[in-house]
Amino acid sequence: MSALGLYIHVPFCRRKCNYCDFVSYPYDAAAASRYLQTLAQEIRLRAARLGGKAAIGSIYLGGGTPTCLGAAAIESIFEFVARHFTVLPGTEITVEANPETLNPELLRALHLAGVNRLSIGMQAANDTELRFLGRGHTFRRVVEAVEWARRAGFTNLNLDLIFGLPGQRLKDWEKTLKEALALGPEHISAYDLEIHPETPLGRAVAAGAYACCPEEEAREMYLMAIDCLTAAGYRHYEISNFALPGKECRHNRLYWVGEPYLGLGPAAHSYLEHRRWANVAALQDYCDLVAGGKLPVAEEHALTPAEEMSEALFLGLRLTAGVSLSGFAARFGRRPEAVYGREISRLVAQGLLCREGDLLRLTRTALPVANVVFAAFV
Ligand code: SF4
Repeated sequence: MSALGLYIHVPFCRRKCNYCDFVSYPYDAAAASRYLQTLAQEIRLRAARLGGKAAIGSIYLGGGTPTCLGAAAIESIFEFVARHFTVLPGTEITVEANPETLNPELLRALHLAGVNRLSIGMQAANDTELRFLGRGHTFRRVVEAVEWARRAGFTNLNLDLIFGLPGQRLKDWEKTLKEALALGPEHISAYDLEIHPETPLGRAVAAGAYACCPEEEAREMYLMAIDCLTAAGYRHYEISNFALPGKECRHNRLYWVGEPYLGLGPAAHSYLEHRRWANVAALQDYCDLVAGGKLPVAEEHALTPAEEMSEALFLGLRLTAGVSLSGFAARFGRRPEAVYGREISRLVAQGLLCREGDLLRLTRTALPVANVVFAAFV
C-alpha cells in the first residue's frame, strides 16, 4: 500500500458563516475536549484495523477551523498520529486557519510542531463582502495573519478566496485578486460561492433579499482569476487551484489522482483499497459510536472497476494537466477511448476536451462548466 494521506476534520468554528454548509459547530471547550478524546480513540481503532503503523505522506487538518482548538490541542493530535502511524520524513502537514483565530504565539507553536503549510481563509479583500459572508475577520486581520505566519517561519501559505457573491462586481473581485497577490502567497484557491438552501444566505436568497450572481458574471470572474493569477506566475493546476512552481498541494492531489487517503473525525471521507466510506456527520453520533468501540462509519461502498474508471476520468480531469491515456490503460487494462469513445469524441467535437499526445484534458471553454464534462463519465 502506498503512503496514505491523512485528513482530520475539526468540526468547530468561532462562529458560523452565512453561507456555510460544512460540518462545524460553535467552538465550546467541553465539546472540543470530548471531540479530542474521541478522535484519539478513532485513531487507535483505525490504526488497529489497518494493522501495523501505516505510512503517512501528507496530513491535512481541515474543518471547521482547526486553529480554534489552540496550539496544545493541535500538537496533541499530531502526537497521537505519530504514535499510531509512521509519518514519513518530508510529510506535507497543512492546517486550515481562519484569521480571527491566529496570533503570533499560536503560529510559532504550529510551525515548531511541524506544520509546514498553512491555508488561510481570506475570502475577500473588502470588509463589506466579509460582513455579508458572516466572516469573523476583517481584511486587515488577514494581512496581519500573513505577516505573523511569515515571521513564524511559514514558507508555504495558501489563501482561500470566494467569488460570485450576490451584487459583487468584476472590479470588486479584481481588487480581491490583486490584494491577495500583494500578500505573496505560494498558493491560491478560488471558489465560486455555492448558495445552499439550508443556510442563512440560502434562506435570504429564497426570500428574495438578494439575487444570485448571474452565471455569466461568475464565469467572467473565474476567467479573470485564471488570467490574473497565471500572469502573476501561478500555475493553474486544478480547476480552483493555483500555485507557484513546486507549491501545489500534495495532499489535495491525492483526491484527484486516485491515491489512498484516510479521513478521521465527523463527516470525513476515506478512499482505500477500492473502497470509499464516509464517517457520520453529527458530532454527537460520532462521539457515541466511537465511545461504544465502533468505527464511526455512516456508509461504505466497494467500488466496481467501472466506477473506478469513471472516477479516474472525472477526478483526473480536474487537473489541468489532464489524464494520461497510457497511465489509465496501465491501471485498468483498457484505454479510455475503448471505454468512453463516444463521450470523448462528442466532448472533443464540442470543444470541451482536447487531446495532446498522451493527455486528455479540459479546454479553457470547459473549465467554467467542467461539471457538464464530468457528467458524461458518470
Ligand atoms: S470558517 Fe469555514 S467551516 Fe467555519 S463556518 Fe465559516 S465557512 Fe464554515
